[in-house]
Amino acid sequence: MGFDSFVDNTKAVGFLRDILATGQIPGALLLCGPDGVGKKTLATMFAKALNCERFRDDFCGDCVHCRKVQEMLDTAQRDFAVRRDLKEVSKRTEGFLYFDVQVIEPLGRFILIEQVRQIRNIAYTRPFELSRRVFIIDQAQSVHWQAVDVLLKVLEESPDTTTLILVSPNRFGLRPTVRSRCRVIQFKAIDESTLLNILAEEGRVPPAKQALVARLAADSLARAKVFNLEEFQRKRNPWLEYLSSLLDRRAGIEAEPDWRMLFESTRVLSEHRAEFEDTLRVGYSLLSDLTRVLERQPDAEVTNIDLVGQLKNWAPKLQFRGIEALKAGLDEANRLYSRNINFQLCLDALAVDVNNLIKN
Ligand SMILES: [Zn+2]
Repeated sequence: MGFDSFVDNTKAVGFLRDILATGQIPGALLLCGPDGVGKKTLATMFAKALNCERFRDDFCGDCVHCRKVQEMLDTAQRDFAVRRDLKEVSKRTEGFLYFDVQVIEPLGRFILIEQVRQIRNIAYTRPFELSRRVFIIDQAQSVHWQAVDVLLKVLEESPDTTTLILVSPNRFGLRPTVRSRCRVIQFKAIDESTLLNILAEEGRVPPAKQALVARLAADSLARAKVFNLEEFQRKRNPWLEYLSSLLDRRAGIEAEPDWRMLFESTRVLSEHRAEFEDTLRVGYSLLSDLTRVLERQPDAEVTNIDLVGQLKNWAPKLQFRGIEALKAGLDEANRLYSRNINFQLCLDALAVDVNNLIKN
């Protein structure tokens, strides 16, 4: 437990610990930086440290206060999940009750005015159970425009008992007047080598696939931690079969693609309608990688990093015109899909076209 368990962004952690050590706690902080680097996690750690009974510039996670904070966070999270599911938007904010430590998130597209009013209503009172109240406003850029003035009022007359922590991917998504009233802490993206170390330590992902997961997580620790490799491979495998049946022919022996395997792959690709966009994204990522390989870009640029050998074998067989044709085919399938045209038929026809193209 404690700040040592936080991954990377040591500068941001150091900044917060300095604040704790001096005891001069600002009324408002703004944590900004890319998604998935742990901004909200660090904000909750800071809330614990502000209240911890054992440490001044750290938290134990075990004292009554630290546990209380965690309990409040968990309860509020459950409450939010229930509210978010309510169909009637006006019902979502009924009977709001904020704890001393509270994460405030969008209920739907926005953080609503009722949510921000509730901050103002209790920010100036004494905390009920803890020494300091902390309101973490996650996705602060989505505070509804009608509510920004209310928030601004609280920031202007910053309460003695409460710290507001705004969390947002991009500080410029917030009004300058809001921004200027916060102490800004900028987070940086987590680099791939750090992600690789974490994946190796965790051991959840097999070593041969760790580089792939780190690459697909795209600098996000949160994504890397929950990345579902099986799911991804289930979506990617039929694409590999599609390409393989078109391209892995023994020279001089097999004149035609393995159509049976190909039709089976397109059947699987079009099986789950709800996954259409995901499926298409995986297809595009393979085509982009084929282009990169053909352009002799460094392997470090390839997304499907575990397939470099395979891609290097396929790319020259397709050439740029083959890759372009496949891309155009996916664009077309995507366009037609909204008109309920069968995706499988599109992919089958595309294979016939590409086959003719690369034969000549
Ligand atoms: Zn503690």
